Amino acid sequence: MTALTKPVRTRVAPSPTGDPHVGTAYVALFNVCFARQHGGQFILRIEDTDQQRSTPESEQQILSSLKWLGLNWDEGPDIGGPHAPYRQSERSEIYKKHAAILLDKGHAFRCFCTSERLDALRAEQTAAKGALGYDGHCANLPVAEVAARVAAGEPHVIRMKVPREGVCEVNDLLRGTIAIDWKEVDMQVLMKADGLPTYHLANVVDDHLMEITHVLRGEEWISSAPKHKLLYEYFGWDMPQLCHMPLLRNPDKSKLSKRKNPTSITYYERMGYLPEALLNYLGRMGWSMPDEREQFTLAEMIAHFDVQRVSLGGPIFDVEKLAWLNGQWLKSLPLDQFVAAFQRWASPEFLARVASQIQTRVSTLSEAVDKAGFFFAGKVVLTPESFTHKNLSAEQIKGLLQLALWELEALRHWEHAHISELLQRLSGALGIKLRDFMAPFFVSMAGTPSAPPVMEAMAIMGPDMTRARLREAIAVLGGVSKNETKVLEKQLAAFRRGESLVAQQPDA
Ligand code: GLU
Repeated sequence: MTALTKPVRTRVAPSPTGDPHVGTAYVALFNVCFARQHGGQFILRIEDTDQQRSTPESEQQILSSLKWLGLNWDEGPDIGGPHAPYRQSERSEIYKKHAAILLDKGHAFRCFCTSERLDALRAEQTAAKGALGYDGHCANLPVAEVAARVAAGEPHVIRMKVPREGVCEVNDLLRGTIAIDWKEVDMQVLMKADGLPTYHLANVVDDHLMEITHVLRGEEWISSAPKHKLLYEYFGWDMPQLCHMPLLRNPDKSKLSKRKNPTSITYYERMGYLPEALLNYLGRMGWSMPDEREQFTLAEMIAHFDVQRVSLGGPIFDVEKLAWLNGQWLKSLPLDQFVAAFQRWASPEFLARVASQIQTRVSTLSEAVDKAGFFFAGKVVLTPESFTHKNLSAEQIKGLLQLALWELEALRHWEHAHISELLQRLSGALGIKLRDFMAPFFVSMAGTPSAPPVMEAMAIMGPDMTRARLREAIAVLGGVSKNETKVLEKQLAAFRRGESLVAQQPDA
């Protein structure tokens, strides 16, 4: 390894746009190991430049999930630090100033192209089967014209200039030199029309100002690396050492996605995985201890960490293997620690939410076990017969569960009101009475049609647990074939257009 001159500083920079993802924990873990191994620091930065999709709840969950895992940061939005603020939405002035520097130096330009022009350009490029990207239309407008249009208040973005010829070479700690033709690199928008930065500008400016020395991040960012390298050059700054980690994959090798696997850290917490075990499993994704032992702590991983031991073949995130490892951890705990783990899992906060759902339904506390057991279970036991319903066929049930599952995968705010609105709308579109429509959801979630309010239960149990149970229910009912999927996808599209699905229903 090259001699390190500056103190090592790494960071994880999640965007708070959804549930806290195991991929975020994975990248954070390797950044922690790398920093700690070099006696350096680890920083948490929140990249919330996408104002439409970022939410404070998501940020809160990311912070609490990483803390639950024991991945602690030295500087961050909650604890501050010498480079505060650590939330990009609070750093707008800094990005404006830096965009102005690029404009002054002639490395960026104001682009007044309308979305109609850009759409037409894209259509043309697609038809010609050529490379997509901005064509430089506004790159060389006369200075006076630009000034006049800005003064007239004409909406515009700021784009970076990018060479059209030659090859960009980026050095990666694991991959060596990565060569990308400049002509494949778009003249990236750096500042949007609303005056807010895009990821690329904010990320580069912050990594520099926060004195980040090593950027370990997912391989999906490789294609951004030339833009970043160019920005460092334009500003005249040293670039941190890049290191693109392999992507976590589903068992079928596709990119890990919530459509196929639970991906939210909160799901694994709710399922009763130990944070130590989840961290241990993530540490085995593309990496192993020198002695190949399977069970190790974070401290042990740090002590033996060597980034060069990361292998690039896409590591498979296999929930069954994780469960096995978790079992090893649970078995190896002294009884008092096992008890403590159990108490943390059945936390007073969770118990209170569950209790609020069953209080009016029990005559002795012992009945709570029966009524509320499904809140704590990982899976409920189901058979096809569990779903038998006097007004609905198995085919109808499978169809409505699948449609609901797809819509719930797309739901942005996991709250009772949104879940309820969605399911009511779907039952209306299908022309099925809400009472009948909801029956399969009770069975999927609780194993029985007579359970506490099921939409509340979904809200409490969270998106990944809910989706996992609906997926299991569909599987128990025989799964959805390719042909059925096609039919249902058409129905989904019609539903999203606000159309009725009554005429498209199979007979009951
Ligand atoms: N905000 C980006 C993300 O959500 C960070 C990428 C990077 O680490 O540069 O993953």
